[in-house]
Amino acid sequence: MEKILVSACLCGQKTRFDGKDNPFPFIEKLKRHYDVVPFCPEVEGGLPLLREPCEIVNNSVLSESGKDYTKEYIEGAKKAVSLCHFFGIKIAILKDRSPSCGSRTIHDGSFKNNMIEGLGLTARALIADGVKVYADTDALDFLVPEEKKKKAKTLGKRPFKKKEEGEKKPFKKAKSPAKTGYKKKEDNWKEGKPARKSFGGKKAFSKKPFGKPRRSSNKPFNQKTPK
Ligand code: SF4
Repeated sequence: MEKILVSACLCGQKTRFDGKDNPFPFIEKLKRHYDVVPFCPEVEGGLPLLREPCEIVNNSVLSESGKDYTKEYIEGAKKAVSLCHFFGIKIAILKDRSPSCGSRTIHDGSFKNNMIEGLGLTARALIADGVKVYADTDALDFLVPEEKKKKAKTLGKRPFKKKEEGEKKPFKKAKSPAKTGYKKKEDNWKEGKPARKSFGGKKAFSKKPFGKPRRSSNKPFNQKTPK
């Protein structure tokens, strides 16, 4: 089974700076198709489980009190790259917004919860090493093809109403000729219009109304031709 690197906090490990995790239900689907390798670069870089929140300020990682943790963050990024080399990992799903794992957005360094586009240190190192990095906020269904198919099937399915036992088809009321624009031949006859007649596939109008006795010549009716 292919291995995939995932931020440890997304896998339910309480590695966040405040001792919490980031629940990520997609991980259960992912586990059916990949060997998930949880990894927290900040903890692996030597920081304690409960720690000060940090942001990237001018390429350094600082806490709000101004303490510089860049060394630990770089150490964590290096360990992530080594792990991917060791296991041949080509894909990583990382928690967005983190100064380590963020791959779409990160905090802007003002400690006012403002976000900007950018990369965390571990995401940067993995991308530079050729690992495909995705954020937890990305549409990730393509990573689990069977789930994608299932979703497409459900979307394409028409709601099917099961017929009850003894249920009859609803009676459809016939539309009036005024609505359909269809007139019977008899209707034309009543209105004194000539009926339509077919000649070898071509449609034509007979001179006499349809249904009246027709004569082949001008001779009076029933008169025999003299021999
Ligand atoms: S460094 Fe990454 S894995 Fe560790 S808590 Fe922060 S976001 Fe989660």
